[in-house]
Amino acid sequence: MDDSDDAATQTPSPARATANPAPETTIGRDFEVPDTMTTPPRTDAEVPAYVRALGLPGLADVHVHFLPQNVLDKVWEYFDNAADNYGRDWPINYRFDEDTRLNTVRELGLRAVPALTYPHKPGMAAWLNEWNAEFAAAHADVIHCGTLYAEPEAADYVPKALAAGAKLFKVHVQVGVFSPDDEVLDPAWKALEEARVPIVIHAGSAPLPGTYTGPQAVINVLERFPKLKFVIAHMGMPEYDEFADLAEKYENVYLDTTMFASGYFSSPAEVTPAYRERLAGLEDKVILGSDFPNIPYPYVDQISGLAALGLGDDWMRSVLWTNGARVLGLD
Ligand SMILES: [Zn+2]
Repeated sequence: MDDSDDAATQTPSPARATANPAPETTIGRDFEVPDTMTTPPRTDAEVPAYVRALGLPGLADVHVHFLPQNVLDKVWEYFDNAADNYGRDWPINYRFDEDTRLNTVRELGLRAVPALTYPHKPGMAAWLNEWNAEFAAAHADVIHCGTLYAEPEAADYVPKALAAGAKLFKVHVQVGVFSPDDEVLDPAWKALEEARVPIVIHAGSAPLPGTYTGPQAVINVLERFPKLKFVIAHMGMPEYDEFADLAEKYENVYLDTTMFASGYFSSPAEVTPAYRERLAGLEDKVILGSDFPNIPYPYVDQISGLAALGLGDDWMRSVLWTNGARVLGLD
């Protein structure tokens, strides 16, 4: 899944040549870690040296977005109005052209690049899945992703995407405004369960609550399909304990760290001792997630924020690489 040969032989596109410089020098937050731990990076440029110091081959980040440019433009426009939606500004830190964004995550150390897409209305998921197949075919290190919407057609296009080689799905309950336990999705869940393909699911009620967000609908789906490989985005924020219950109860349920403890919505210092204790016990179930590129801070904040939980270098190794590599099927 290494695209370096490809990248080396390609001449830079005009779009890349005119792009803003990658924000390598952005200073992250100065989180404290115990002396017993490897000093975390302060800047994105320091991330690869930190990963090497931990003895890891790279980062296995399960939650990265690449979208058709017209869809991404709409997402960015939405975050430009974040003050109306979230009550605070959300300046996209990696608002660059596609090649620059791909190279940024490669330089950070991602060995495989998720391209999570999600529909906000019916009739859109099949088209996104076609785009995902093409995007993965064009880049050797991009993971072939898929998505779905609660619509009858999901019974056809989900198995079709799996047959075409999709390895990772994304479902966004708040943006999609549908319930994951809607019976129209049962054939899709069955196909995903049989294929053992992981599904990153944004089901928690933060940053924005939705009609169908919260743990109950996910619990209902798992009762019907207990082997589903759900990766709960944002650790289930803010329903942390309810979603941690699921990660403890179900062998194939994981939590992704996206935006957790990064200092924006959630800071290491705010994590309760009881939950921190649960995270230590869930060392094999927590997977690095970032939400790159749509984050209002440098990528390094996600890593240094997790380190500041003070759970030790072994915990960091599991979260930054081992768990994600296992779920994504990396070597
Ligand atoms: Zn996301």
